[in-house]
Amino acid sequence: MQDITLILLAAGSSSRFGLPVKKQWLYQDNKPLWLAVADNFQNSFNFKKIIVVGSPDEIAYMKQFSNYLCVTGGNNRSASLRNALAQVKTPFVLVNDIARCCIDTEMVERVISKKEEGACIVPVLKAVDTLYLGQEPIDREKVHIIQTPQLSHTDVLREALNNTVGFTDESSAIRALGETVLFVEGSIKAHKLTTQSDLEKLPCLLPPASDTFVGFGIDIHPFQEGKEMKLCGITIDSPFGFRAHSDGDVAIHALIDALMGASGMGDIGELFPDTDAVYAGADSSVLLREVVKRIRAFGFEISNVDLTILAQTPKLLPYKQVMREHISTLLGIAPIRTNIKATTAEKMGFVGREEGVTVQAVASLKYFNWKEVP
Ligand code: MG
Repeated sequence: MQDITLILLAAGSSSRFGLPVKKQWLYQDNKPLWLAVADNFQNSFNFKKIIVVGSPDEIAYMKQFSNYLCVTGGNNRSASLRNALAQVKTPFVLVNDIARCCIDTEMVERVISKKEEGACIVPVLKAVDTLYLGQEPIDREKVHIIQTPQLSHTDVLREALNNTVGFTDESSAIRALGETVLFVEGSIKAHKLTTQSDLEKLPCLLPPASDTFVGFGIDIHPFQEGKEMKLCGITIDSPFGFRAHSDGDVAIHALIDALMGASGMGDIGELFPDTDAVYAGADSSVLLREVVKRIRAFGFEISNVDLTILAQTPKLLPYKQVMREHISTLLGIAPIRTNIKATTAEKMGFVGREEGVTVQAVASLKYFNWKEVP
């Protein structure tokens, strides 16, 4: 397979999927789906190179998982494919949508074996139902249901992408150029994962591993007179708030770092740089909500969190319960899994001298068990 590059398209938004997790991040044992599919292809076919296309806000995270070349996707399928093709040096390219996650190796072999016989080799299924076009029945023997992966001559596909618009697969773009498209027998195993109900039609999918992931976060902010004090998203009655680029909610910042730590996503500064004017005075509850959305989209669920606020002043006892309820709402987990503790520093150090507050947080995550969704 030294003359073939595999492109895996995994930049979709999963808008029709119906679960908080994106399709490409459904965990298969301990691998996200896109990586499991890439590894399955590589183990069966030993391609010259595998290129995975991810959406712009996922690509840095994807790169932490493997040595596959991860390329940033565009606004649509053809833009994503063009970005990937720029990295292809082989004469042939096989393109597979991540939604075709169950690989029928015999079908892929059928596609590859015909590579010299057309500009694009396409697996197809025959229609089994009676078909109408508008009000008129049509001859179903003439109907072909197109699947992926499709194998293309790299140069022809590049030209097709530069000269055609609005196609939904490689074969239709190449056909529009007047080049030969060759059909080979497809496979019902290559069913496409589009909605949640497709999951049960894909017996190759594995349940997620039961690993637990723990993350730790710490943040420190000095007091600033005359600013509103926010802790755990709650306004605290105090003559000073926290000096910071954002609203200075030191507790939520520590919690965000704990969540990002557990999921391997780096730290809060990478996601919300304090050099970015967008986050000037930002409401940290909004930032936490964004992090929680990402954690869910990337295949995790939150098991529990535990925060310790070190503050000599103000007294936090009256606020602990309302903090707990607010954080549990933002995380989408029960209050019993959202513990908030407060302690003084016994008048020692910068906290004891009442110069600022520090918060430590831990969070534990597990993979979202998509197999057990009702
Ligand atoms: Mg901070």
